[in-house]
Amino acid sequence: MKRKFKVGLLGVPFDDNSSFEKGPALAPDLIRKILSSGSLNSATELGFDLKNNVQWLDLGNINFSKERHFIEDIFSQSLKFLADNTRLLSLGGDHSISHPLLKAYREYFPKLNILHIDAHSDLYDSFKGNRYANACPFARVMEEGLCDRLVQIGIRTLNSHQREQISKFGVESHEMKDWPLKKMFEFDGPVYLSLDIDGIDPAFAPGVSHREPGGLTSREVINIIHKINTPLVGADIVEFNPNKDIDNMTSQLAAKLVKEIAGKMLSN
Ligand code: MN
Ligand code: MN
Repeated sequence: MKRKFKVGLLGVPFDDNSSFEKGPALAPDLIRKILSSGSLNSATELGFDLKNNVQWLDLGNINFSKERHFIEDIFSQSLKFLADNTRLLSLGGDHSISHPLLKAYREYFPKLNILHIDAHSDLYDSFKGNRYANACPFARVMEEGLCDRLVQIGIRTLNSHQREQISKFGVESHEMKDWPLKKMFEFDGPVYLSLDIDGIDPAFAPGVSHREPGGLTSREVINIIHKINTPLVGADIVEFNPNKDIDNMTSQLAAKLVKEIAGKMLSN
């Protein structure tokens, strides 16, 4: 009998590749604190209760070594969890952490689509001389063939280099200026969600390093996640910067998103 998978919360407290302001390394433990604070219950909108759910667990944080590259630390440690049939809901960290996570995912998911929610397309070949900057992860993902299809929504910052990269890599990048879409995208095969909190409008999520007005509402993002038409097998929530938050607005939203993404991953 095939053993049922688990869904594990994995903290990735790393912001060395934040190109503007540090802070996202503080996010995982703060989101956990909100989740256990009693300010919200453990029921998810899709009908799963995370409390006492044997499929849902906390895996703790990735350990970062001084000697090894961050890619190696995240890749090797997340691979072990995937080998143990545990799907990951990772908490960043800046957006550079998604690349090694997807590298590990690709080992176990020969077919993989990515839904990437972000104000930015994060396709820079290099940013301020750093090819691993938080502005670059999806250029690395596409170069290394880590997904079959990359769909982006929430985008509202494209420059000419980013547009070139979009056509070079065949990315389906939906800009906010064209929102809402006339026809919603559908997937064929498993989906990995990479959720940069700055994809959501700063009116709902002020706790980010790169506040970009004109984004998605929190309700829109939750509905989009609920309606993913194929199994959601992995996710990350990145770029929440507690130093920029106002009265816990963004940490509360991040905690709500953890619940709703976990509920969706458990419903597969
Ligand atoms: Mn962003
Ligand atoms: Mn990003």
